[in-house]
Amino acid sequence: MADTIKIKLPDGSEREVVKGTTALDVANSISPRLAQAALVAKVKPVGSSNGDRLVDLSRPLEQDAEVRILTEKDPESLEVFRHSSAHLLAAAVLELFPETKLGHGPATESGFFYDFYREKPFTPEDLEKIEKKMAELVQQDIPYAQDFLPRKEGLERFQSEGDFMKCHFIEQFTAPDEKISLYRTGKFVDFCRGPHVP
Ligand SMILES: [Zn+2]
Repeated sequence: MADTIKIKLPDGSEREVVKGTTALDVANSISPRLAQAALVAKVKPVGSSNGDRLVDLSRPLEQDAEVRILTEKDPESLEVFRHSSAHLLAAAVLELFPETKLGHGPATESGFFYDFYREKPFTPEDLEKIEKKMAELVQQDIPYAQDFLPRKEGLERFQSEGDFMKCHFIEQFTAPDEKISLYRTGKFVDFCRGPHVP
């Protein structure tokens, strides 16, 4: 028989699920509408002193935990939504201007930005095109897919693209024996811990 874990929901109810079940599976089992609206999950492993953290809805749950599904109604999901929007912006820019080199793109208090390097600055017309492309990519419903790579391979990947700023971040923020976390949205790949909206 498959290993099971216990999931505690915010209403205090508990359910036993197969180990490896995702928060999205849990949301679906509560209601398809919740699953549709879900942006990210808040997971607190039972007995952990680290407290809770936000994780991708697609992340397998490996141990007993309190799980909360966040939608846009939860203020805590806003930062994830904004950072995911920055990824979408970068994906749109790479579609239109593939020569662009990537810095980083955090959420801010009022929205988000992405740092780009190009020989030629963006014009106001470019910004309109980028916004249109972002809307197009939304329609395509491309997932935010996470991947783990050995650090060396990750560095080589960004080096081959000439993404010198990404290489700098990897060198600065990871240890040599670490696996690094990447997120892909269309043509855009970020060195990024996440989490992201689906
Ligand atoms: Zn990111």
